[in-house]
Amino acid sequence: MVDRLRPSDPPTSSNPRVRQVEAILHGTVIDHIPGHMTLKVANLLARENDQVSIGMNLRSARMGRKGVVKISGRELDARTLSRLALIAPSASVSIIRDTQVVQKFTVPMPKLFEDIARCANPNCVTNHERWASRMEVVNTDPLTVCCIYCERTFLATELALL
Ligand SMILES: [Zn+2]
Repeated sequence: MVDRLRPSDPPTSSNPRVRQVEAILHGTVIDHIPGHMTLKVANLLARENDQVSIGMNLRSARMGRKGVVKISGRELDARTLSRLALIAPSASVSIIRDTQVVQKFTVPMPKLFEDIARCANPNCVTNHERWASRMEVVNTDPLTVCCIYCERTFLATELALL
């Protein structure tokens, strides 16, 4: 279930910078998502029964406009973090327990994305055989990966997640 905040929602606190999206008791907050990736991140992370809050086009001193996605009751596993790294490498992750931030970090960037995205080369063996795709990070800004099988290089934005 995804609740979208309406632009007309009143601020929930006198400090709109920290309370642009309602606080959660336990769970994960993904912040500093590029505005246009917000819904994609929510779709990627949310499971069927998750309670998810989405803030879109929030003001950010660092980024201009950003998105925030909050998932109640769950912390992210390593695979989900890898998928997040591919589509929103600038995002930050906060782990919330009893309404307190117990851990905050930038999405860890793996050296290798294993079985995370489909190779965009239609002739690549990974698109024809049951081989897991393996893509090495060759540049982080913009995020660029090289398929270790066909040795073609792609921007992360060109890739579809598996
Ligand atoms: Zn390939």
